[in-house]
Amino acid sequence: MSRCGRRVENMLELRPTCEHCNKSLPYNTHEAMICTFECTFCKDCVKNVLKEMCPNCGGGFEKRPLRPKTLLGKYPVSASIIYKPVDIKSHLKRLNKK
Ligand SMILES: [Zn+2]
Ligand SMILES: [Zn+2]
Repeated sequence: MSRCGRRVENMLELRPTCEHCNKSLPYNTHEAMICTFECTFCKDCVKNVLKEMCPNCGGGFEKRPLRPKTLLGKYPVSASIIYKPVDIKSHLKRLNKK
């Protein structure tokens, strides 16, 4: 159990990069945005490219909380880089249907 009472396997996955532009998003950046399924994008992509809608699940984004540095040893950031640039055209189409 972590201090927050959540099981460790369920902790928030801190992905190291933006899925769309592959920009690096360290644990302490204020630029990282996540959706409810932890799809991770940088602030610029969310605002300018995705228009606040997640291309994978269709949900919205929230700012990713910072993980305290003291907990990084025990709960490190994710090493799995997910890089799959969004198909902007079909994303916008989907967006307009909403
Ligand atoms: Zn990005
Ligand atoms: Zn999503």
